[in-house]
Amino acid sequence: MSEVLESLHDRARHLMVAGVTPYTAIDYPGQFSAVVFVQGCPWKCVYCHNPHMQPRRFDERFLHGDWDEVVGLLKRRQGLLDAVVFSGGEPTIDPALPDAIEEVKAMGFLVGLHTSGCYPEHLKAVVQKLDWVGIDIKAPLSNGALYQKIVGREKGDHAAAVSQCLDLLIEEKVLFECRTTAHPAYLSDESLITLARELKARGVSHFALQVYRCPKELELPFENVGYEYPNKDVLATLEELFENFELRRG
Ligand code: SF4
Repeated sequence: MSEVLESLHDRARHLMVAGVTPYTAIDYPGQFSAVVFVQGCPWKCVYCHNPHMQPRRFDERFLHGDWDEVVGLLKRRQGLLDAVVFSGGEPTIDPALPDAIEEVKAMGFLVGLHTSGCYPEHLKAVVQKLDWVGIDIKAPLSNGALYQKIVGREKGDHAAAVSQCLDLLIEEKVLFECRTTAHPAYLSDESLITLARELKARGVSHFALQVYRCPKELELPFENVGYEYPNKDVLATLEELFENFELRRG
């Protein structure tokens, strides 16, 4: 390993790896990828599937990995994997993310990012190195109060932060998808349409609607919903609005 790569690796080793999915075909569109989960998230979303990844400190009851293991895995899978996706938690919370991305790129992988868009400045630091981004849009960006309610944080203009991240992705011409996890208890059919129209007006072309699902092992506040939500008129509007619309259930 060259000296430059060695010092890059030394810095990237500080990344707090909460877990790894070694192989997936669904986390980066059209590519086989590994997913690296990063520990820590400033939000507490009402539907979070990874609440143990919210604290910045590891909960020792859960397995976690380290960056050396990730790099070892990636070396063994060179030629089999196309991409590495950083997910979480919220990966942009980690100061070692830019170095980890750099190292993965030096190994020849595409780099994807799953983000909630809560840290525009941190996203700015890495955006030019990203090949694809999946950004959560949790509520209409014009509805700051609803945003606060969904992310479980009363203080702060979270919708404005996400809006800045969206601008950044558009300005930098990064390939990206907006995705929304939806349940009628917090996103009515009308709110969904408002959200979708706002995104369309910003020039978003890829949108995925993920209908809320409660995994068996978690106690989440809402019941699973049936096929009546969202209603078919809403789905028809979403299909019409976006060049690429995907409905994800389960
Ligand atoms: S932003 Fe993601 S990781 Fe953070 S609390 Fe919300 S759903 Fe969980």
